[in-house]
Amino acid sequence: MFNNRIKIKELLQQEPAGQEVTVMGWVRTFRNNQFVALNDGSTNQHLQVVLALGQFPESLLSRITTSASLRVTGKVVASLGKGQKIDLQAVTVDILGDSDAEKYPLQPKKHSLEFLREKAHLRFRTNTFAAVFRVRHALSFAVHQFFHQKGFLYLHTPIITASDAEGAGEMFRVTSLQLDGTAPRTEDGQINFKEDFFGRSTHLTVSGQLEGELGATAFGEIYTFGPTFRAENSNTARHLAEFWMIEPEMAFYDLEDNMNLAEEFIGYIIRYAMEHCADDLQFLDQRLADEEKQLPQDKRSELGLLEKLRFVTENKFERLTYTEAIDILRESNYNKKKKFQYEITGWGMDLQSEHERYLVEKHFKKPVILYNYPAAIKAFYMRQNDDGKTVAAMDILAPGIGEIVGGSQREERLENLQQKMAAMGIGEEELWWYLDTRRFGTVPHAGFGLGFERMVQFVTGMSNIRDVIAFPRTPGSAEF
Ligand code: ATP
Ligand code: MN
Repeated sequence: MFNNRIKIKELLQQEPAGQEVTVMGWVRTFRNNQFVALNDGSTNQHLQVVLALGQFPESLLSRITTSASLRVTGKVVASLGKGQKIDLQAVTVDILGDSDAEKYPLQPKKHSLEFLREKAHLRFRTNTFAAVFRVRHALSFAVHQFFHQKGFLYLHTPIITASDAEGAGEMFRVTSLQLDGTAPRTEDGQINFKEDFFGRSTHLTVSGQLEGELGATAFGEIYTFGPTFRAENSNTARHLAEFWMIEPEMAFYDLEDNMNLAEEFIGYIIRYAMEHCADDLQFLDQRLADEEKQLPQDKRSELGLLEKLRFVTENKFERLTYTEAIDILRESNYNKKKKFQYEITGWGMDLQSEHERYLVEKHFKKPVILYNYPAAIKAFYMRQNDDGKTVAAMDILAPGIGEIVGGSQREERLENLQQKMAAMGIGEEELWWYLDTRRFGTVPHAGFGLGFERMVQFVTGMSNIRDVIAFPRTPGSAEF
């Protein structure tokens, strides 16, 4: 058996009493031919391994370089140094893998996030990314725990889909046809997808919602948590071409029930991370504070990361209708002084992210739930309100991020849904299975989608979405 190691996280909780342990990890720094800072990924804290002078041959010492991997057996003793309680007094040291310090791309100094994005295969070995990805793990786990405890069923919706009712134009095609011009054609010269692998045109999913509704109308409450794909050519700090979405879908819920669930859910997973990743969040809080010191005063956040998270879990989200939001925006000094790039033209306009951020960051200074949007700017499946103008949609907007959740009560009335689809040019033959849920025992139901990376951004304070997913896919970039 090779692996008899103790993880550094666990070891650092022990009292130093001369006990013998074995650790394995990667060298972060090696000082004075004596002190190795060893990290094994279990925690941001490094273990100080002490090599007594004269006890180890130069041939070994010269191989202890940044990112070399080691197995060390030694005695756990009280540390004489500052900043750590224990040291590991090395007895045997094995080099598991050498690392040529000249060629290793990450120097033991601060690198920019942009630089590290190009070294995404190694960036987990930095303190910042290690913290981000441990928090991401905790948040994923919390998602499952939250829904499981509530009795929701985890439904795996398909990644390859034939329905393109939702995001036409923003989808990645899936095909096994050749692109060399030999693909079969129809009589009028178009590519004949009847000859394609699935006998029809298919894409990567942009959302599991429609299939989620099929689950909700049998199990009552389901959630999905899987990858989604959007070929939107928007190079922003909040958009990825491949991202993970959590989509709960619930029978017997109206819009208010939906908002209550979303708010409870967000509070739960943030609290979970604060409880289980206290060290990492402390580190990220400090990182953000240092980063913000470089910014001009008016660009800095009013709250630190931990303060912000505490604030969000301790305060109710502000809820207001789209109509009320338009009024606030129209009357705002920002609008009157023409500080918005996109003017507030009036009721019916789609809100731009600068408007959403104004509401959240300047006006309310907390997360906001906007609901009852104009029907014309929302999807076909959202439930029509009695006013004939709006639908029971809701978006949750978070400080620094903008939209983090989009959801709605779904249109459960067959006729209303059919009329809406006809008006939007969506063929019934394509979604016959979806309409069947409205034909056979239809029920009021609702659901939402939370973009997981945006949530991870919010909790870690990372300003670019590319830094909270392991291997980001964005326009022009799919390395690693
Ligand atoms: P946005 O206006 O920000 O592009 P959207 O209206 O397209 O968002 P929805 O279709 O409602 O978003 O998707 C649900 C959630 O998925 C959003 O609230 C957001 O958190 C997340 N999301 C949407 N598009 C992306 C993307 N390209 N990358 C990462 N997350 C996304
Ligand atoms: Mn979008």
